[in-house]
Amino acid sequence: MIDATQIRGKVIVITGGARGIGLATGTALQTLGARIGIGDIDETAVEEVGAARGFEFFGKLDVTDQTSFGSFLDDVERTLGPIDVLINNAGIMPTGKLVDEPDQVSRRILDINIYGVILGSKLGLRRMLPRGRGHIINIASLAGETHIPGLATYNASKHAVLGFTDTLREEYRGTGLHFSSVLPTLTNTELGAGVSALRLLRAAEPEEIADTIAALIVAPKSNVRVTALAGFIARVVGLLPESLGNRIGRALGADRAFLDDVDAEKRKAYEERARSV
Ligand code: NAD
Repeated sequence: MIDATQIRGKVIVITGGARGIGLATGTALQTLGARIGIGDIDETAVEEVGAARGFEFFGKLDVTDQTSFGSFLDDVERTLGPIDVLINNAGIMPTGKLVDEPDQVSRRILDINIYGVILGSKLGLRRMLPRGRGHIINIASLAGETHIPGLATYNASKHAVLGFTDTLREEYRGTGLHFSSVLPTLTNTELGAGVSALRLLRAAEPEEIADTIAALIVAPKSNVRVTALAGFIARVVGLLPESLGNRIGRALGADRAFLDDVDAEKRKAYEERARSV
């Protein structure tokens, strides 16, 4: 049970908030009394959903563009007050073999999933450090602790987010700021369309990730994995000798889940959107 008094009135910004995990998180935190600002590169979607859900602030934001990100945060602070929590959530996950991945898609994954998080953290730090309080939450993935064929560039980006966030925690130790990574398993959003969970595991719902983030705001931690079972398996497999870990991964279907086993028809719309943002 989340203590809403710890969340009520907090100004919380969520990038990539027009759908999926970002939208579920904004909705859950708003229900707990937070003042939400959501930004998304998909202007139509963010305007529609922002008005429909009654968020206090919403608008277009491109996390890869310094001017866009900076002025979005300025506008939030002018409207809602100092930002307490920044959730760097925007991300894309094109799937397929690296050899077939167009260069501009590789760059875009790195630009959104890594540079967007670095830029957001920097802009957040500059606002939060002088106040001696604030919480930066970066949405990584269990893909940041594993390696999954069909996701090479995405895996690389999420490994980077974990290393980056761990470094900030140490670099700004004692400042009053918190830095957390969230590591979801496959989650039922458009990003995971046409992909099935590995054997023994289930896909998470975006609301489960949202509840985890709410709990994290109340009691900051370095890393949280969702689901607990998927997180446990990823950690255990990571401790094993590589060949044994890979054998277990293959037994769970990790070698096919993002390649041969993808339902291309169900995934088509997402791949087109992700490759064009
Ligand atoms: P989603 O596609 O449903 O939503 C992501 C949102 O980010 C979209 O609305 C999109 O328009 C927005 N976005 C993309 N590029 C942007 C940019 N440059 N600037 C601002 N917004 C941008 O995806 P999701 O599943 O909700 O994913 C959210 C985060 O969770 C991502 O970082 C993703 O890597 C991570 N994640 C997702 C899963 C999963 O299986 N769904 C698992 C682990 C981690």
